[in-house]
Amino acid sequence: MKLKLSALDLHLINPWKIASSKGSSTHTVVIFELADKDGVKAIGEAAPASTYQETAHAVIQFCTGLDTTRLSFADVPGSMAWVNSLPGIPAAARCGLNLALLDGAAKRAGVPVYDHLKLGFREQQHVTSFSIGIDTPEIVRAKVLAAASYPVLKLKVGDPRDHENFAALRSVAPNKPVRVDANEGWKTKEYALEMLEDLAHDGHIQFVEQPMPRNTPPADLIWLKERTPLPLYADESCHAVRDIPHCAECFHGVNVKLMKTGGLSMACDTLQAARKAGLMTMVGCMIETGLLISAAAHLAELADHLDIDGNLLVNNDPFAGVTAERGILSFGSALEKTGLRVSPRG
Ligand SMILES: [Mg+2]
Repeated sequence: MKLKLSALDLHLINPWKIASSKGSSTHTVVIFELADKDGVKAIGEAAPASTYQETAHAVIQFCTGLDTTRLSFADVPGSMAWVNSLPGIPAAARCGLNLALLDGAAKRAGVPVYDHLKLGFREQQHVTSFSIGIDTPEIVRAKVLAAASYPVLKLKVGDPRDHENFAALRSVAPNKPVRVDANEGWKTKEYALEMLEDLAHDGHIQFVEQPMPRNTPPADLIWLKERTPLPLYADESCHAVRDIPHCAECFHGVNVKLMKTGGLSMACDTLQAARKAGLMTMVGCMIETGLLISAAAHLAELADHLDIDGNLLVNNDPFAGVTAERGILSFGSALEKTGLRVSPRG
């Protein structure tokens, strides 16, 4: 098996700011290309997140010189058992390898990954939200207007301008369903409850993501869960299956991302464990290309909500796969019929 790695700088249409990070206008991802001796070519991607102290440089450094004889499209579970055993491997690197392995395995079988994983995919059924980052109220207003075709928005909060930004959104989208993401930005349970009660008056908020920091004592999170008027979803607090019991105690739902679980195989396990524990499920994303977004779309049948818009926020996405016109996910125009259903943009 041959492995080729390349770094790719994604350029954001608008600088991207959330509560837990400074604004940025580029984001570096790593593209994985795997080819076996039979000529099967597969692709994967890692979009390392600074929130989790991962970088593209570290992913490339870790994966350069890997013993690729341990990787096989014919045995993804066996290959992943070896990948997961590598000490210190970044979750983003596991994700890049897992995606490429599944792309190759499904291409060999002549089926899409969603069928290879026995999940299926219903066209016209799955809607992604469109995210509005932290900015000035004027720019939030302009971004909400530009996103008029998307039926659900996600507003990033956790900034002194939260009230003004929400009012700016409502000034141009009075009744649109909105998800609110605090990205750990509310530091005390009392302040978080005050914000939640305030937001609940709006009447069109679906849920609030990660109101408090991931290291908040469980007793405080349980206190908040008992009092909140809006459902609470874990994002930074939920990485993989091991976090599900904690999340079931402290939240109503979880946001599962390929970059946290380390790929599709583990994301499936995490979503299934979450549903078994009575949690609502959501599939989310980072700033990433259409390759990773398409991979996440293969999980749509396991998600109650989708927030996979990371490629819509950049202006140099080199891949075509799933589309999200008016927020509705579709593989209808994907030229590649098998694997992740992703091909280079023509
Ligand atoms: Mg989030």
